[in-house]
Amino acid sequence: MTYDVAVVGAGIAGMTAAIYALRAGKSVLLIEKESVGGQITLSPKVENYPGFTEISGLDLADGVFNQALSLGAALEVDEVKSVTKEGGVFRLVCGYSEHEAKSVVIATGLRHRRLDAAAPFEGQGVSYCAVCDGAFYRGKTVAVVGGGNTAVSEAIYLADICEKVCLIHRRTGYRAEKAVMDRFLAKPNIERHENKTVEAVSGEAGNLVLTLKDTQDGSTSELAVSGLFVALGHIPANGVFAELCELDESGFVAADETCMTKTPGLFAAGDCRRKAVRQLTTAAADGAVAGLAAAKYVDGL
Ligand code: NAP
Repeated sequence: MTYDVAVVGAGIAGMTAAIYALRAGKSVLLIEKESVGGQITLSPKVENYPGFTEISGLDLADGVFNQALSLGAALEVDEVKSVTKEGGVFRLVCGYSEHEAKSVVIATGLRHRRLDAAAPFEGQGVSYCAVCDGAFYRGKTVAVVGGGNTAVSEAIYLADICEKVCLIHRRTGYRAEKAVMDRFLAKPNIERHENKTVEAVSGEAGNLVLTLKDTQDGSTSELAVSGLFVALGHIPANGVFAELCELDESGFVAADETCMTKTPGLFAAGDCRRKAVRQLTTAAADGAVAGLAAAKYVDGL
């Protein structure tokens, strides 16, 4: 069948786009390559989404997903490999399936910025998700690298499980918001390693040795930990859409106020879009705008 709207990415932006397009009477296919819910499912605690004083990222994502399903969204778990537009119809070729849609919403979010030095130990002592893997390190010493909301929130979460958490950050200023920093600074078992980068990782799973480099004097030191959590922010992955939309120098999709890209019928919503603020609320807002714009576009065909 030819769907009215295909949404690529089932994070908060994509699922919200689906909800709005479905409520406008359109058929919607959600295509997700990994797990439904996106980045927020990795957040232990969300405290800045209106209506919830506190909710786990997983619970929030579950609620939005169930809402989209109950309205009739179809789900395909597959990776979109190419997108073309011919005769007014978009063709999405995935790893194992192919789909057609009259409009497409790109809601691909972001992927983790990797720590090259830690690559050989990914999945063997090096993790990108404290919620997923923190329990393996109960009572042990772990390190978190990064200085944004994710790193600081993960350090707080791990401090309740682990004996000690070493937060490694390349400078002394943090990007995390004040409310999160206040909780972080109150944790007695978090040790700050500021002005340090992780230059090398050696040892073995469960017994890692991190080589830290001082960003001011260039000196190096070693830190023994059981596990390392990497939280260096995120980067976009929109190459598959490069033919149909404009990507900026960092790879974010350029879209106008209605989330429309340079190709009519192709919209972008959420963190993958060029924008100033990337939060759950702005992802949901984009999803609403893109879902309604896609429905209007289909009505006008
Ligand atoms: P982020 O804010 O971009 O922070 C990334 C951190 O990694 C920065 O501190 C950065 O250092 C550091 N970094 C980046 N590349 C590095 C490198 N090569 N070597 C060493 N350090 C490096 O990313 P994020 O924390 O994942 O947050 C992303 C977005 O999600 C933000 O908008 C954030 O507010 C939001 N978020 C919100 C919550 C919440 O509860 N409100 C939770 C998680 C995320 P510098 O600071 O020196 O650049």
